[in-house]
Amino acid sequence: MKLGIFGGTFNPIHYGHLINAEIIRSDFDLDRIILVPAKYPVHKKLDGDVPPDHRYAMTALAVSSTREFEVSRIEIDREGPSYTITTVDDIQALHTGSELYLIIGSDAVHEFATWREPDRMLKHASLIVMRRPGGNNRPGPVFGSNNIYYAENPLIEISSSCIRDRLRAGKTIKYLLPDAVIDYIQKKGLYSN
Ligand code: ATP
Repeated sequence: MKLGIFGGTFNPIHYGHLINAEIIRSDFDLDRIILVPAKYPVHKKLDGDVPPDHRYAMTALAVSSTREFEVSRIEIDREGPSYTITTVDDIQALHTGSELYLIIGSDAVHEFATWREPDRMLKHASLIVMRRPGGNNRPGPVFGSNNIYYAENPLIEISSSCIRDRLRAGKTIKYLLPDAVIDYIQKKGLYSN
């Protein structure tokens, strides 16, 4: 079983995440992708103060019709901060014998060396780096590791921050993320201030 692990704040999840995850699933022959909303991000401040349960619910709504995608509460339910290495360890324990692929954006790969135990992480999982507009998308081999792959995904200029900014400015967010997530945001009054 080849398992993708796709972590993020998903504040909110959008089509930049979803289109690229699906393309990577297909191009790398992954059997499943586990989306892992972070409780509180270790590397950045959470804008909008949207509690983890709302971000989990939006992520679950976004992938509800995709059999190969699942959403995990593993980081949300864990005590303390969300370190990716702990998530990799926990997913490995839950899926013994699976090959793990950690999917990260090209913006995040540059910070990877500052994450907790990057060397051990690369012993347990391969990295798939997603291209992102404005990023240095071909950083070349890093950490002397041969299990880092660069995806040929499309450049999609959507970010959660642009969605939050548009909402606060009263602008449309239609077609940037699934309708079910937009309905949820409106019903719960998220990102309104
Ligand atoms: P924000 O705008 O709040 O910083 P974000 O859009 O970057 O949020 P995250 O939930 O932080 O969303 O992203 C999770 C992962 O997905 C990160 O590795 C990020 O680099 C990647 N990612 C997000 N949007 C895109 C996109 N449009 N194309 C490629 N990768 C993306």
